[in-house]
Amino acid sequence: MKPPRFEYRAPSDVEEVVGILTEVGDEGKVLAGGQSLVPSMNFRLARPGLLVDINGVKALDYIQRSGDRILIGTLTRHSCLENAAAVPGPLGRLLATAAHHVGHMPIRVRGTFGGSVAHADPAAEWCMVSVLLDAEIIAVGSRGRRTIPAEDFFRTVFTTALEPYELLSEVILPVLPDSARFGFVEFSRRAGDFAIVASSVVIDVGSNGIINPRVALAGVGGTPVRARSAEAVLAGSAPSAELFRAAADAAAGDVEPMGDIHGSSEYRRHLVRVLTRRALERAASEA
Ligand SMILES: Cc1cc2nc3c(=O)[nH]c(=O)nc-3n(C[C@H](O)[C@H](O)[C@H](O)COP(=O)(O)OP(=O)(O)OC[C@H]3O[C@@H](n4cnc5c(N)ncnc54)[C@H](O)[C@@H]3O)c2cc1C
Repeated sequence: MKPPRFEYRAPSDVEEVVGILTEVGDEGKVLAGGQSLVPSMNFRLARPGLLVDINGVKALDYIQRSGDRILIGTLTRHSCLENAAAVPGPLGRLLATAAHHVGHMPIRVRGTFGGSVAHADPAAEWCMVSVLLDAEIIAVGSRGRRTIPAEDFFRTVFTTALEPYELLSEVILPVLPDSARFGFVEFSRRAGDFAIVASSVVIDVGSNGIINPRVALAGVGGTPVRARSAEAVLAGSAPSAELFRAAADAAAGDVEPMGDIHGSSEYRRHLVRVLTRRALERAASEA
């Protein structure tokens, strides 16, 4: 399959990217790793008149620490995050585990963190992780820079708060304390496929029980979802098999999954229950 005709520009700095996006409006599309955009064009699901290739904008490719935050430049490839040492502590381990679930190696070498977040597939690992960790998403446009909380960023399937003239430049994640533990579990038909459902959790166990529990789900609706009722069940309680079962039940009650050819609504809800329990068990046993 070949894509429809398009113009191509390859700017070398952010200002130029923003200038082109502003000039062309809806006609333009950013080309990052191309791992979602190019197949969509080949299937004629997307017909941009102009591709703005950002691969030459080296200033968008970085992982940096700033105080208690990790800044991930939009062009960071999935494969860079597969190395747990790229980011310190439990956050690095969580990102490495999530990265490993993104497609296959050739996709991880080309595809970018920011491209996945901008694409907003509700089953994508990085979208779920962004919601799990209350990421801040940085958009740059001709009117300047703005920060969008992850839960406001994802609107519905493949739809975000980004304006057509804005570039997603960075995603900011909180550094997790060394005592934090995570669990990340997903179910897909074949290794490398998008998850049918995925569940991710972060817990920290103190002398008064679980502190700051976070539970997020993918593949259960138009956007990734925070399972707030599950978090409420976990907060302040001591970890136990019964508690994890109760939290997993609460997570299943937090979602209204849509059914499709990969699984009915009821099947997805069942997966939420099973995968969330497993994710919590993994977090509790993480060394
Ligand atoms: C066979 C296969 C299996 C896959 N499996 C998975 C999987 O299991 N999990 C998963 O999460 N993904 C999976 N993917 C998708 C892959 O992760 C993509 O890399 C990712 O979705 C998009 O990143 P990209 O850099 O390739 O973006 P592109 O394809 O270049 O762009 C995607 C969209 O985002 C926009 N965009 C990109 N960057 C920016 C930016 N900085 N600012 C504004 N808009 C931007 C583009 O205009 C386009 O609309 C799979 C892909 C394939 C082909």
